[in-house]
Amino acid sequence: MRFVAKQPREGINVSDTHPLVEAGALIAGIGAISLIIALALIFLIEVALYFLPVDKEAQIFADWLPEDLVTISPNDERLIETQALVDRLTEHWQDRPYSFRVEIDDSEIANAMALPGGLVIVTQGLLDQVESENELAFVLGHELGHFKNRDHIRALGRAIVFSLFFAVITDNDVGGVGITVADLALRGFSRSQESKADEFGLAIVNSEYGHVNEASRLFVRWDTDGDLVDEIVSYLSTHPNSGDRVESLRELARLEAWRTDGEITNLSW
Ligand SMILES: [Zn+2]
Repeated sequence: MRFVAKQPREGINVSDTHPLVEAGALIAGIGAISLIIALALIFLIEVALYFLPVDKEAQIFADWLPEDLVTISPNDERLIETQALVDRLTEHWQDRPYSFRVEIDDSEIANAMALPGGLVIVTQGLLDQVESENELAFVLGHELGHFKNRDHIRALGRAIVFSLFFAVITDNDVGGVGITVADLALRGFSRSQESKADEFGLAIVNSEYGHVNEASRLFVRWDTDGDLVDEIVSYLSTHPNSGDRVESLRELARLEAWRTDGEITNLSW
């Protein structure tokens, strides 16, 4: 019998699926794999950071500033006074592992952040909102509470991975990856991390002034003045609802029997 080679049928290499559907599946697959890689990286970096001893963290980040931070003049009175206030407040934290640095972000939108290495950032917008030293002291005390509980380091993995992916996508030099305020602003802390930071903040305010009068007055105003929303949106996106906070701070002061009627200290500016 003679062997007759059969011709392959027409279009054997052509899939029955529409090319756009296949392209879609490919993109979705690559997307899913990238997402898994990103999540695994975030997890690994956060685990590594969790075990990073605090003195090493302080050393590594001693002179570090986020890449996109626009600071104000080092001679600015508000910067000098805010740094002095942080220095006074941290005197009440005996075994503090950092020498705290304050920087003022030249942004009109109120915000405050605790960043690696003991860096406290407050914005010009936040300083515009505070009306007494007692109000500012509590905002700063709250951020100090995040350092105390090392919350600030746990969300850092996310920021590092976002910076890395951004560098890859935009084809920038990965060696020059910088962590930005914009990346860090993405993070939010849990309710319990926030309330622990509030407890630490109020305790430190009480140690400094001998009372907690006006510690939460800023949040009373924010809770009642609906016109302020645009100015405080960043702070509110990373901190709990102002009204809830005022309630729980009042309750805390009552439980701890801290005075709520002491003398108010004016701001020097
Ligand atoms: Zn917080």
